[in-house]
Amino acid sequence: MDKKEKEKEKENKNEKIKVDEKEKENIKKQGKENEKIKEDGKPKKKEKKEKEEKEVKTFKIITLGNSGVGKTSIINRYIKNQFDTNIASTLGMNFDYKEIHFNNKDKIILKLLDTAGQEKYKSLAKSYFKNADAVLFVFSVDDKESFNTINEWMESFNSINSKINVPRYLVGNKNDLERKIEQNSIDEFARNNKIQFVSTSAKTKNNIDELFEEIGKKLYIDFLTKGDKGQNSINIKIIKKDQQSKCCLGRADT
Ligand code: GDP
Ligand code: MG
Repeated sequence: MDKKEKEKEKENKNEKIKVDEKEKENIKKQGKENEKIKEDGKPKKKEKKEKEEKEVKTFKIITLGNSGVGKTSIINRYIKNQFDTNIASTLGMNFDYKEIHFNNKDKIILKLLDTAGQEKYKSLAKSYFKNADAVLFVFSVDDKESFNTINEWMESFNSINSKINVPRYLVGNKNDLERKIEQNSIDEFARNNKIQFVSTSAKTKNNIDELFEEIGKKLYIDFLTKGDKGQNSINIKIIKKDQQSKCCLGRADT
């Protein structure tokens, strides 16, 4: 290779480096453009959505009842759409959240408090009774004792939180199993205590979503119409009756 050829090769090399750098710059530029598009696109949409949807309130819902009636299962079914036959018993207090959206305009958050039914946790649970916005008294339809104990759970709750505007539901869970409690006794108890009865199964999902949707709607409408000071409640009946029982009784305060 003579001197001239060497110089030409060097020139070519430099040219190539220049071209490579230009290409890199172009790629970088394109990347930035793409990022710009992303920036211009996504966050704007998000911003718009946030503006559109207003978070109204977080409502605390407490589940009370004997151990083994299915409180944790009801919550798991609603939040995660899961059912497990072998769940560890709840220790103390757990909580989970779920949003409910209303016409893409408002959203509320349900904070579901899962309590342990054991006697030793009753005193711990009481500290949560005071701030509850709604309460579910849960028994299992195949366990008479769990139904007979509801009275105690109600007395315990009412002695701390007697606000009439806190919706109370009597939940007869495990309706997929053979019933050991007369439906008449349940209806009578619900009537006497002015509480709405809902028959559910965390296993088959019967009335689970409907139960929480009803609670959410009720809390939302009560809040919009009366704020936190509402004393009476509006009853929205959206729960379907199951085949075997009268699912829903109207509340006497409606
Ligand atoms: P908790 O102590 O009240 O929280 O009750 P769990 O949710 O831990 O449930 C106790 C047991 O009952 C578990 O083995 C669950 O799988 C079972 N279980 C819960 N709900 C139902 C239901 O609707 N039907 C049936 N067949 N079993 C259920
Ligand atoms: Mg539990």
